[in-house]
Amino acid sequence: MSKNRNRKPENHALCDKREKEKQVVDLMIRLYCRKKHRGMQGENELCAQCQELREYARQRSDHCPFMETKTFCSNCRVHCYKPEMREKIRQVMRFAGPRMMLYHPIMAVRHVACTAAEKRRLQRREQ
Ligand SMILES: [Zn+2]
Repeated sequence: MSKNRNRKPENHALCDKREKEKQVVDLMIRLYCRKKHRGMQGENELCAQCQELREYARQRSDHCPFMETKTFCSNCRVHCYKPEMREKIRQVMRFAGPRMMLYHPIMAVRHVACTAAEKRRLQRREQ
């Protein structure tokens, strides 16, 4: 009976990953809303539509069953979002993705690298 189970602190890393992902999505939605929905924002920097999207995105991150295995990126979320929200988050990513390079270079580089890797993986699976 061995008592030395090598348990990695996976839960902590996982929480961290979720939090980081939420932060990135948060930033992207704020950026998108600021540029696209100027003048429509309420008291919390977001218009009603983007506010809803952010809440939804947060929920998805909290409940994502693939968080453990997937790379740090939002590619996977595109698959578990309901169609309406999927389209919205796509627009946000398309718009805010490249601009993240300017505002948050380190986060953006990590995100782009992971997204590319994830895309290649999905393509390979589909072939
Ligand atoms: Zn907005």
